[in-house]
Amino acid sequence: MEINLLDLIKQYKSIQNEIDSVVLKVLERGQYILGPNVEAFEEEIAEFTGTNHGIGVANGTDALLLTLKAYDIGEGDEVITTPFTFFATAEVISQAGAIPVFVDIDKDTYNMDINKIEENITEKTKAIIPVHIFGQPVDMDKVLEIAEKYNLIVIEDACQAIGAEYKSKKVGSIGHAACFSFFPTKNLGCYGDGGMIVTSDNSIVEKLNMLRFHGQRVKYHNEMLGYNSRLDEIQAAMLRVKLRYLNEWNNKRNYLAKKYNEKLINLPLKTPKEIDNIKHVYHLYIVQSEERDELIKFLKKSGISTGVYYPIPLHLQEVYKSLTYKEGDFENSEYCSKRTFALPLYPELKEKEQDYIIDKIKEFYENK
Ligand SMILES: *Cc1c(COP(=O)(O)O)cnc(C)c1O
Repeated sequence: MEINLLDLIKQYKSIQNEIDSVVLKVLERGQYILGPNVEAFEEEIAEFTGTNHGIGVANGTDALLLTLKAYDIGEGDEVITTPFTFFATAEVISQAGAIPVFVDIDKDTYNMDINKIEENITEKTKAIIPVHIFGQPVDMDKVLEIAEKYNLIVIEDACQAIGAEYKSKKVGSIGHAACFSFFPTKNLGCYGDGGMIVTSDNSIVEKLNMLRFHGQRVKYHNEMLGYNSRLDEIQAAMLRVKLRYLNEWNNKRNYLAKKYNEKLINLPLKTPKEIDNIKHVYHLYIVQSEERDELIKFLKKSGISTGVYYPIPLHLQEVYKSLTYKEGDFENSEYCSKRTFALPLYPELKEKEQDYIIDKIKEFYENK
């Protein structure tokens, strides 16, 4: 049996007629940038997340960058985030001219350890970017409490967690603003790049709209330096179709995760831990193993693809040498980077495929 970590074609095939038909409509209408589908999709995502505004942009990275810019965060500022995330989270802080300040993670949830935020706040701290990593929300109450105490902006990096909930609120509606990515592999993925900012902070909406469009409010009147960063009309049309399936797909991910948890129980393999009062959307199903590399090799030989997230925590990345972090600074992130990896989990994964993966993992440990 051959099982990929993810199978995008299977998902496309399951909704092919709907997708093809909306694409053709966009092609025939002839409005390819900031058309009616982008506008409608912005409203639909705002409604879905329980926020007032959605601003479609070119990708999740730009969503984060433009949000930092909209809050005037840059030179001389510090932004607190996690070193155990996709590089873009920290990259945009640096691109904005500010300095990323890392806070170690919790070894069970892989999310930022909220008890270590406060000790990293200085006079220069302007914002916190909590990342809902792998689809599990950060324990946001504490983050908001600290932010309020020190007057900080909270920007949720919700790129991996669309549809996840914290205390019955959708992620994206908890901080001042939040960012989503529609990269093809995300829980709501398009067929190319795409991203969105959601917020209920009316004070940044106009600026975000200008930032994504060369700093102009009126065509050819450039009031500030901006970017060319729009969500494509054609992508928005396809995303509107897929949004209608998102709950069903997220529930299926949740169901498959619970089955993995149950079946992998008594093995020397650590399965994901959920905090209370949340809905996890399992963008990735991450396990921890002391024999990770050996196990990955064994699964590969059995036709099962896996992926290592994340092999190098951001404080140890070449590009961040200048920040002078060193090995040992964030023990939990480093510990996890040597042990964690993802098993195949996506809505189209068949039960017999999952059973095969479970059997192979058991076989690996039986023969050890
Ligand atoms: C995917 C991702 C991003 C960046 O999104 P792109 O659309 O690829 O630019 C940022 N942060 C996290 C946590 C992500 O997973």
